[in-house]
Amino acid sequence: MRVAILSSEAVPFAKTGGLGDVAGALPKALRSVGVDSLLVLPLFEQTERKLLRAQVIDNLEVEWPSGTRRASVWLSDAAGAPAFLIDAPEYFARSSVYGFGDDHERFAFFCRAALALLKRLGPTPDIVHLNDWPGGFAATELRVRRALDPFYHRTRTLFSIHNLAYHGSFDPRDLDRLGFNTPERREPFMMEGAASALKAGLMMSDMLSTVSHRYSLEIQTPEFGHGLEWILRARRDRLVGITNGVDYDVWNPETDQYLAAHFNADNLEGKRMCKLDLLRRYNLPEELDRPIIASISRLTGQKGFDLIREAAAQILMTGAFFISLGSGAREYEDFFQALRDHAPRQVGTYRGFNEPLSHQIEAGADIFLMPSQFEPCGLNQMYSLRYGTVPVVRATGGLDDTVEDFDRSRGTGNGFKFGPYSAPAMLEKISEALYCYGEPEVWKQIQLNGMRVDNSWQAAAQKYLELYRTTAQT
Ligand code: ADP
Repeated sequence: MRVAILSSEAVPFAKTGGLGDVAGALPKALRSVGVDSLLVLPLFEQTERKLLRAQVIDNLEVEWPSGTRRASVWLSDAAGAPAFLIDAPEYFARSSVYGFGDDHERFAFFCRAALALLKRLGPTPDIVHLNDWPGGFAATELRVRRALDPFYHRTRTLFSIHNLAYHGSFDPRDLDRLGFNTPERREPFMMEGAASALKAGLMMSDMLSTVSHRYSLEIQTPEFGHGLEWILRARRDRLVGITNGVDYDVWNPETDQYLAAHFNADNLEGKRMCKLDLLRRYNLPEELDRPIIASISRLTGQKGFDLIREAAAQILMTGAFFISLGSGAREYEDFFQALRDHAPRQVGTYRGFNEPLSHQIEAGADIFLMPSQFEPCGLNQMYSLRYGTVPVVRATGGLDDTVEDFDRSRGTGNGFKFGPYSAPAMLEKISEALYCYGEPEVWKQIQLNGMRVDNSWQAAAQKYLELYRTTAQT
């Protein structure tokens, strides 16, 4: 089984969120179950050049409506599977991965370059595995092209939805310029007068998957479907949910390179050192018995910051520390800054993206708060489980699938879950968690229940292999 994974981001090359973690870990995990996997992604400015082994192609010809373009390609082994990075500086040598007016053109070009690369590399991939809206261009191009091009004749596509909220929408007048200039190429993109790369991906791929079972059901409803639920309902026999794994080579408190001390389920002593280290990093009083509630996130409405804002005064009244790491919407950045200014000895705020700090928070905090409005899978709650940091989450999407509510009488469960999207419901669970924190034996039980959960990629990779087999037969 030969599988080419196309992604707009992948650890350790470039990351803005969960897709980066997943695309960085999956190719390696697939190799361990016998899949001949490779990864293709753009070469961004932020990619560390020391990760690259060699330039393997210096004249990749990419068909482009305005005339053939050339790109070069670099090879890296840093993700534990061959990764090919498309070097086209006019598109990718920029300060961030997304966020430009020509993003649709950038990723349309990436898709065309990736297809040209696969053909040049040979042999034919059985599966091209696409991810989120940037993959919509390749899904459409491949579907049309495989009828004409013997090389791609038997290639099938799997499209994975990591977040249905991002449509990759653009002005449909640009479709011609990007080479989607025939009715069969144009139509899949059209959505209420705009062009949506995501919609094209959902329409034109052979199989669809998303990153948790619960989310695969939710997105078939108007509440979570972002206007695309009708496609997902119509294609539900082709839609599968596979929960992401955790790359324990990267997220493991026994070996994590960023931590002040190491620990595991048999010995939690190091976690106290990590807590002290975290309090120091945030210039907070070194009061080790006071609980730390933490948040690491892109600052978007999806992640439930409205609830945190509404409940902020009550959260502070509990006496717990509150620590956040994130960047994004200005209103939430300003809110966290104001909260810190209001209570500088209780609140710590870091605005920006900081990989080491995200590990240090997972290790040093006591409670991880993730009250998402919707959550396709969510990774931080799973990292928290392994780091003995108890998640308090809203029961939606992958959060619902991966966190089990603590049951005092049976001693089961690894976190706290609330249902309604409301500040009082969230506060109730925070209070319950803090109450348990006050009883060290109970708390330790919850921590250990979480630390012993196995969310490794092994099981997920096996499920992907089965899904690839099904996809190949469509
Ligand atoms: P999403 O993909 O919606 O952003 P996930 O929970 O699936 O949410 O994945 C988020 C990933 O991005 C995690 O690895 C998390 O640690 C990381 N992350 C988010 N914000 C930051 C930040 N400001 N600094 C460092 N890492 C971050």
